[in-house]
Amino acid sequence: MNHKKAQILRDTLMLIGFVTMFAGYFWDPLVIIGFIIALSCLIPDYLYNRCPHCGKRLGRNAGKFCQHCGKEID
Ligand SMILES: [Zn+2]
Repeated sequence: MNHKKAQILRDTLMLIGFVTMFAGYFWDPLVIIGFIIALSCLIPDYLYNRCPHCGKRLGRNAGKFCQHCGKEID
């Protein structure tokens, strides 16, 4: 998995998590389930959202260059 897929997966899990938490308005356990889904977005972010050159985390960087070492990350 590259950093782009990791960022997409992270944002998707975050979105699904929050939507599920709001659905908890109708059925309480969904709040906890949504919270777990939202938290699980940290896993692909932590494992794969890294610069292939220096190994540092890219965070919300969606650009072409690493903000730590300046090398291209495509
Ligand atoms: Zn780097």
